[in-house]
Amino acid sequence: MVRTSGPAAGELVRRLAGTVPPARRAAYRTLRDADGLTIDRGIVLHFPAPDSFTGEECAEFHVHGGRAVVDALLGALCKVSSVRLAEPGEFTRRAFQNGKMTLLDSEALADLIEAETEAERRFAIQNGAGRHAMLYGEWRREIIRIWSAIEARLDFSDEDDVPDDLPADLLTDIVALEGRISQHLSGYRQAEMVRAGFDVVLLGAPNVGKSSLLNALAARQVAIVTDEPGTTRDLIELVLDLEGTKVRVTDTAGIRAPSGRVEEIGIARAVERASQAQLVLLLAPADGSAEFLEPPAGVDCLHVVTKIDMAGAASAARHRHSISTVTGAGLPDLIAVVAGRAAAHRPADGEVLPWKARHVELLRQAGAYLAQACAAGVGLEIRSERLRAAAASLGRIAGDVDVEDLLDAIFSSFCIGK
Ligand code: GDP
Repeated sequence: MVRTSGPAAGELVRRLAGTVPPARRAAYRTLRDADGLTIDRGIVLHFPAPDSFTGEECAEFHVHGGRAVVDALLGALCKVSSVRLAEPGEFTRRAFQNGKMTLLDSEALADLIEAETEAERRFAIQNGAGRHAMLYGEWRREIIRIWSAIEARLDFSDEDDVPDDLPADLLTDIVALEGRISQHLSGYRQAEMVRAGFDVVLLGAPNVGKSSLLNALAARQVAIVTDEPGTTRDLIELVLDLEGTKVRVTDTAGIRAPSGRVEEIGIARAVERASQAQLVLLLAPADGSAEFLEPPAGVDCLHVVTKIDMAGAASAARHRHSISTVTGAGLPDLIAVVAGRAAAHRPADGEVLPWKARHVELLRQAGAYLAQACAAGVGLEIRSERLRAAAASLGRIAGDVDVEDLLDAIFSSFCIGK
């Protein structure tokens, strides 16, 4: 589908399809170039402004998707002097600039386009439903209410007698709002997980079978986000789609001691990495040739006995999770348990979480300004100014307040045609 937006859209339909069909009605037409030669036959749609995606007059040409057809169609469209190819994200940018969507909606749309797992898709759909704009708008209005109350006190005070004290009820309101923002911010990690993946780390002494488990996971999963383990800083990572949730499994076997140093250093670094994980799989072999390492404190851990094909089932039976990457025994159960843990960390449907670093930064800023607005020993004029700044930070999230400088960065991440 080739989509066009701008005042010449109707004229383009007339030139290529002969006449312009009724607004928003699909019409089957022969599309011809300037010499009258047929390009293709397909569906044409015309959207008069402002009822279109961008808010401008738009037209769509649905043709057979082969490269030559699309090239010929684009060639015929671009022959018209006011027509050029769109920049990446330009349709969405125009939709935002024409008030068709907030900046939050645009970012949620970008996430939807990039969603790789079911959890990401659902999260992006929910984030695009306008609830964040509503919440941040409500907070912003609350700040503006408090700010105007302070401004009124300043306005009505005697020049020489500017009141210094913040009325107790306003102070309570600011503190309450700051609390709500910081509570909201604490959900960012959970939101991050949807995109970055539930963080699982494999931990164990050398040769217990960590790499073999990672390879077995890669081989068994039908829906793999990356099918080759990648390497980042000594770590080997695999991103899996486990029952709709993105799971990032990290093999710490890559962490080796620098040459000449003892092996313990490598293990200490692996334990350090594991301490940041959301789930650690501690591995030890059934033949007793190595023990489980000490699990990092405060992290959810599963003890997994490996190589159960080598030893009697008796030693494995002591632990709930036991596997063999040679026979495949125990792997489906282990995968199901990990998938269950990952799913439990997914945001609940309808939960409004901050989901972008840009929003988090602005929310933190707003929180910090609110804290300054109610700090001890500050004059009322300063408090008023801090509240204004807090309201502006919140306004920038949905794009209500000057965001011109951000737009290039946000929309250039889209692909062309979106
Ligand atoms: P890592 O150092 O912990 O990553 O361990 P590896 O995955 O490299 O495995 C060490 C050795 O154990 C290799 O020779 C593997 O082939 C072997 N191994 C791994 N898993 C199993 C298993 O389930 N059964 C058997 N019999 N051997 C295994």
